[in-house]
Amino acid sequence: MRDFNVVVLGAGGVGKSALTARFIRDVFIENYDPTIEEEYRRTLQVDGTLTSLEVLDTAGADQFNAINEMYIKNGRGFLLVFSLTQEASLREVEMLRQQIYRVKGGSAKVPIVVVGTKLDLVNEREVPRSTIQELAARWGLPFYETSAKRNWQISTPFEDLVRQMLSR
Ligand code: GDP
Ligand code: MG
Repeated sequence: MRDFNVVVLGAGGVGKSALTARFIRDVFIENYDPTIEEEYRRTLQVDGTLTSLEVLDTAGADQFNAINEMYIKNGRGFLLVFSLTQEASLREVEMLRQQIYRVKGGSAKVPIVVVGTKLDLVNEREVPRSTIQELAARWGLPFYETSAKRNWQISTPFEDLVRQMLSR
């Protein structure tokens, strides 16, 4: 069994804990304490390879916080999470992306996926698909739209990340 650790990063309130809880325990957490940072583990089979995935759900980190740097140093793969309903949370992803490359030294080899959350809140959507598709293409990163509430596309970004980690 292969062993990997991944870190869930993004602005407060974008749905990092809801995404993690859906992936780990298949439940939707409506009101998760925003200050709790927690590490989880589950197994995931990807392309015939069984992996044990440690998932760190971060809390309270932002661009001015040296904590991010520690997360990045210790992390092997990263989910950069923003909310499709909050355009500003996309800037945090851009910030984190740059910080990861700075800390890891070089870009091509760091496993990253970009995750847009709250796809179910169609009427509150602020980030058009074309915007994020163009950005992700420019960044050279895979991008997924998810809903933890509806259980849409939750495992896919984790599987993508595992595939990247298996091949690097
Ligand atoms: P975090 O601070 O990034 O960990 O964000 P949380 O996971 O605590 O979620 C913040 C808020 O967004 C909570 O009220 C969640 O119920 C809500 N939320 C998270 N994911 C979804 C989703 O997929 N759909 C909807 N409708 N709400 C969500
Ligand atoms: Mg949280």
